[in-house]
Amino acid sequence: MTKILLLGGTAEARALAEVLITDGLDVTSSLAGRIADPRLPVGDVRIGGFGGIEGLRMELADYAAVVDATHPFARNISANAVAACTADGVPLLRLERPGWAARASTSWHWVDSHDDAAATAAKLGRRPFLTVGRQEMDRFIPDLRHHSVLARVVQTPETPLPATWRLLTSRGPYALPDELHLMRDHHTDVLITKDSGGEHTWPKMAAAESLGVPVVVVRRPARAPGVPTVHDVTEAAAWVHDLARVSE
Ligand code: NAP
Repeated sequence: MTKILLLGGTAEARALAEVLITDGLDVTSSLAGRIADPRLPVGDVRIGGFGGIEGLRMELADYAAVVDATHPFARNISANAVAACTADGVPLLRLERPGWAARASTSWHWVDSHDDAAATAAKLGRRPFLTVGRQEMDRFIPDLRHHSVLARVVQTPETPLPATWRLLTSRGPYALPDELHLMRDHHTDVLITKDSGGEHTWPKMAAAESLGVPVVVVRRPARAPGVPTVHDVTEAAAWVHDLARVSE
């Protein structure tokens, strides 16, 4: 049977694993292992880095194709997948949820990096709601050290945070009434996010719009050109089925 390696860590990857396994395909999901208690997809799961491009190439010996359904901001693993698959002629599909640009409001401030996001937010408000994730948090400390930051993360960061910051650990999806309540309670005057896209974390954007709060949005990193890309699970499943039919 055609074996598929599904690079995951996203809701779309879990949904795709479920569809493909229900359809009787042989899928192994791969997680980075960053979160202590990750949401596990159905089916076989491997956890931990591969050891760069060479490690991934060794792993690929067992697979007929790769679907890269990692987060839009997980740029290293995606670049490694392109390099490894290209080197060994393994078919690669990118599944990437659409970004939020098409829904942008005039109160959004687009920036190219987390450092720019910190500098922009520092000028826009005193009470930022920081939602960029644990890994990027350090980059906001220099500019926002004296701001009253509400920082929401899935898992507590190792770096100590400034005394003026309040940490909130939680995992989406989130609902609009809760986001409105949270932002009102904190008196948020600027929201900081990356262009993660999708619906699970969209309610904070809707809440900001409704409360008249400006939003600083970090643009997605550039992608390697030439990789076939789809934007939803159905299209990704169709690609895998086509490939499995050809390989049989
Ligand atoms: P990254 O910077 O692209 O990856 C760093 C290293 O982690 C990679 O070089 C690889 O190590 C390992 N890795 C990443 N994803 C992996 C996977 N699915 N399976 C096996 N190894 C993986 O990625 P990141 O931004 O740290 O994200 C890590 C994971 O969290 C991803 O799976 C992503 O989908 C998920 N995630 C990320 C974000 C985000 O904002 N970045 C948000 C939600 C979920 P080796 O080089 O050793 O192979």
